[in-house]
Amino acid sequence: MHASAVWRTKVPRNPNLEKLQTTYLFPQIEMKKKEHLLKNPNANLIELGVGNTTEPIPKCITSSMAEHCHRLATYEGYKGYGDEQGNKDLREAIADVMYKNTSIDGTQVFVSDDAQCDISRLQLLFGSVVTMAVQDPCFPAYVDSGVTIGQTGDYMASTGQYQNITYMECTSDNDFFPRLSNMPRTDVIFFCSPNNPTGHAASRFQLEKLVDFATSNGSIIVYDTAYSEFITDDSPKSIYEIPGSKQVAIEISSFSKFAGFTGVRLGWTVVPTELLYSNGSPVINDYDRVVCTSFNGPSSIAQVGGLACLTPQGMKEIRKVINVYQTNTKLLIHTLTSIGFQTYGGTNSPFVWVHFPGRKSWDVFAEILEKTNVITIPGLGFGPAGEEFIRFSSFARPNSMQQACRRLKDHFTKN
Ligand code: PLP
Repeated sequence: MHASAVWRTKVPRNPNLEKLQTTYLFPQIEMKKKEHLLKNPNANLIELGVGNTTEPIPKCITSSMAEHCHRLATYEGYKGYGDEQGNKDLREAIADVMYKNTSIDGTQVFVSDDAQCDISRLQLLFGSVVTMAVQDPCFPAYVDSGVTIGQTGDYMASTGQYQNITYMECTSDNDFFPRLSNMPRTDVIFFCSPNNPTGHAASRFQLEKLVDFATSNGSIIVYDTAYSEFITDDSPKSIYEIPGSKQVAIEISSFSKFAGFTGVRLGWTVVPTELLYSNGSPVINDYDRVVCTSFNGPSSIAQVGGLACLTPQGMKEIRKVINVYQTNTKLLIHTLTSIGFQTYGGTNSPFVWVHFPGRKSWDVFAEILEKTNVITIPGLGFGPAGEEFIRFSSFARPNSMQQACRRLKDHFTKN
């Protein structure tokens, strides 16, 4: 080999990964932040971007995890691997607390390390032959995991879309709910409510239409409820509140935003026993097989924490933390509307979706960063329908949020 030549293996690159655009959205924002800090080392940055939680986990939850850790140091309390599907008591507690008015029981709940991994595990379940639809805009993991598993064609720069994905536009023009009569049938429909990034929680009427659509097409809905505990009105917190949904829907959710477990890591997926493939076999059996192959069960420490979250005391303390973010959201909406911006979301979600008519979202992101040292997310990162929008997150310490709002008001009222 020539001394200067770069040595290569003979392994071809996965062609699906070649199709993916640049880096995943959130690391891209992190890169922009680092570039900004290199240019402005003294910048006092405020993060209203990625959506990382800031408030401490309530003590009644952390102390249960600490006690469990101490028990692990004893022969009596030590435990190794647990069940791949999660501990029985936690599976049952999730069913009892989060699905109390449905017939979902613990055997249909799969506890996991987080919802993001479950999105990819579900793609392993579906494989490369299915067709899928996503809301536009949407959380980017649905599209990127679909591309990675091989469900899509190439990226089309002219439209900002991948071939073989149906993008269901959800904008203020259609009350953030797709015009289903114009949608082609797909095997799988990813649907997130309250939606990241628009902050819209689908109403019961909208979800009934979605379940009807999936039923008449024989499709499977993957319903993501990572932000359901932020709902303040009577919008359903689970798809299983809708009659007929157990025959057509899988639900994924997470302790991340609900209980501040972004660092602890814990989530879950519900696969109802009634959900069947076209050959009549239960989807839950295959999901169990995928989980057992790709996962050895969540951390026992995180699971003890999850169980503490679901006690009456845990739920009460968590509510106080969510209230902090909800107060932030109100201030954010008040500030942005008083400047004159049209805002959406926020009432049922920690995200506020803000319209900057006629402007490119990456330009607005750059302007806000440069002029106010506030990190946001450009709407285009969530899909073509996100152009002209910025997503503001309310996950911030209250004093940081107050400061960010002052800076935004100063900048936009002067310009
Ligand atoms: N689903 C949605 C809609 C999200 O916004 C996120 C995280 O931001 C996730 C899933 C992933 O959550 P987790 O922390 O459980 O991986």
